Amino acid sequence: MKAIAVSILLFAYAAAGAADIPAITAVKAAHMVDVRSGKLVDQAVVLISGERITAAGSQLTIPAGATVIDLGNKTLLPGLIDAHTHITGRPEDAGYSIIAKSIPRITLTGAHNALTTLRAGFTTIRDVGADGYTDIGLRDAINDGDVPGPRILASGPPLGITGGHCDDTMHAPEYKSIALGVADGVDEALKVTRRNIKYGADVIKICATGGVLSFGDDPRTSQYTLEELKAIIGEAHRLGRKAAAHAHGGDGIRLAVLAGIDSIEHGSYIDDEGIKLMKEHKTYLVPTLYLGDWLIDNAEAIKLPAPLLEKAKVVLPQARINIGKAIKAGVPIAFGTDAAVYPHGLNAREFAVLVKLGMTPAQAIRTATVNAADLLGWSDKVGSIEAGKYADLIAVDGAPLNDVRALEQVQWVMKGGAVVKGN
Ligand SMILES: [Zn+2]
Repeated sequence: MKAIAVSILLFAYAAAGAADIPAITAVKAAHMVDVRSGKLVDQAVVLISGERITAAGSQLTIPAGATVIDLGNKTLLPGLIDAHTHITGRPEDAGYSIIAKSIPRITLTGAHNALTTLRAGFTTIRDVGADGYTDIGLRDAINDGDVPGPRILASGPPLGITGGHCDDTMHAPEYKSIALGVADGVDEALKVTRRNIKYGADVIKICATGGVLSFGDDPRTSQYTLEELKAIIGEAHRLGRKAAAHAHGGDGIRLAVLAGIDSIEHGSYIDDEGIKLMKEHKTYLVPTLYLGDWLIDNAEAIKLPAPLLEKAKVVLPQARINIGKAIKAGVPIAFGTDAAVYPHGLNAREFAVLVKLGMTPAQAIRTATVNAADLLGWSDKVGSIEAGKYADLIAVDGAPLNDVRALEQVQWVMKGGAVVKGN
């Protein structure tokens, strides 16, 4: 009788103990990229508990009872970060056809693109400009587990001037179409910044110059004044958000940096003064260069209106020359693509362009990991394979530190400890 009581007690103790120890997953691979040093770690082991990494290194002891995922000869990297997407957009939306799409329809396009992006190895994105609040709704649906996708830091509708790059510049006046983020003057700009935050914006996006895929404006001219930029950026910072500025022309780049912007997007006409200012202010540049190849090759297929194609042919080759200078001069770079201008899922094609412009593969990989995490303000969560961070991991064949194109074929993806692609 006594013996039975003791064994019941022991059983109860063992059961309680097992429940207290969280299940461990161990991911093994032949190699792992240490993104900080730019070196390979061989016989890599990553230990994961729940959503987070608990340890990572070479030949770590795997605890008894752990679930082991053996990736064989593959190379592990942290999940990639794209700091410039438009997740709810598509290349076909560049012309007039977007007028016929409702907000619910656009959001569902976003859900499709989110899965494609995640499976391409991008486990985190910063979405900088969406129709309405579609990217914010999508972010919340992903966080709630309703649809699969990357972690999203979302801006909602970008702020811009009347008739500027981020207004609906394509309509006849009879349609009275005004994009949701349009704000002129300090008072309106403050109101729209606050309204975006009210509806859930994590980051404030500003259109500081003209653009390529907009009618009737010039990418080289600035659109907001210094006073307006200071008001928007100051308010974003006061309310705990960073701000990102679409800026092609040198004047707009200079004004946005002087007003305290956290990142310049595109930067196509960055000049010596812009390079100097961005280095001084430690402002990130987010170049988006691969899109030029795709857009010009596929202009006919997506029915890109002629005036937009003409602008693209002038601006995009020039951008590579100027961004090459900025990279060589040491301007901080974070990885971005402008995915939506070309199909989502091809994001990793940007790496080869960065290498062509003078980066080593390790430097290019850093732009999409530690640098992008720093720009997002998420260095404690993502961007490297280290204890305490989310278990966001990818694996590739080949040697990405020798050839970054290996990242264009991601074989296996894990987000927050759950495998989302591969076995
Ligand atoms: Zn963009």
